[in-house]
Amino acid sequence: AEKGKTDHPALLHGKYELGRMLGHGTFAKVYHARHVTTGKSVAMKVVGKEKVIRVGMMEQIQREISVMNMVKHPNIVELHEVMASKSKIYFAMELVRGGELFSKVVQGRLKEDLARVYFQQLVSAVDFCHSRGVYHRDLKPENLLLDEDGNLKVTDFGLSAFSEHLKQDGLLYTTSDIWSCGVILYVLLAGFLPFQDDNLVAMYRKIYRGDYKCPPWFSSEARRLITKLLDPNPNSRITISKIRDSSWFKKSIPKTVRTK
Ligand code: ADP
Ligand code: MG
Repeated sequence: AEKGKTDHPALLHGKYELGRMLGHGTFAKVYHARHVTTGKSVAMKVVGKEKVIRVGMMEQIQREISVMNMVKHPNIVELHEVMASKSKIYFAMELVRGGELFSKVVQGRLKEDLARVYFQQLVSAVDFCHSRGVYHRDLKPENLLLDEDGNLKVTDFGLSAFSEHLKQDGLLYTTSDIWSCGVILYVLLAGFLPFQDDNLVAMYRKIYRGDYKCPPWFSSEARRLITKLLDPNPNSRITISKIRDSSWFKKSIPKTVRTK
């Protein structure tokens, strides 16, 4: 679809006016929308039902709904309501206006003090979810948004799962979210990915060997933490409470650091 134009009803559920597109991912498009009676702006995530049925994702959508309702946290995008038309499912979410953290990194790597602010907020969101048996499983810079005050907000719970099924899974998802936090921290500090290879097989080999190098500008504390986060062995990988205890994480943030 052409950017800015939509094929949705002008007034969604008699409640929301749809505006411009804010972004898109693998399955969804996200639009600016306004609740007409309150005037409140929201982000409207739209998923085509044909996509849902074709990919067999209805269950996943249901999970996304319950997950987002379960996890209310200052660093997690809040879900307001879910609606459906004949062909589409609509998620009215908290509008996050500062764009993707990813686009900030594209402009250039971050100083360690600023990266620390984002990383602390990310870990706080992930810890909160894990303590409720909720795992994100798709943590990456594109799913990390910034609000007007420069605070980080995690979005896109499309792939998350609950631990109830198997204890084993819960452990696996915990450690894989922690590994993803390691990749994110690396990207913030480096400005590029730790495991990059045009050849996918070669990239996977690098991942499970833990084959990456920290650029010379990383501090020794940052290196130490990243080594523990990107430990290829999930059984020896650092835990969230140990992350919080690490010297890099605990280092106080100078008052001069502004996220805005
Ligand atoms: P998908 O499940 O298809 O990956 P996402 O939920 O990740 O969809 O949303 C796609 C993009 O839309 C995001 O990368 C982001 O740029 C934008 N977006 C998502 N949620 C919001 C929001 N609450 N506020 C503002 N922009 C958002
Ligand atoms: Mg996404």
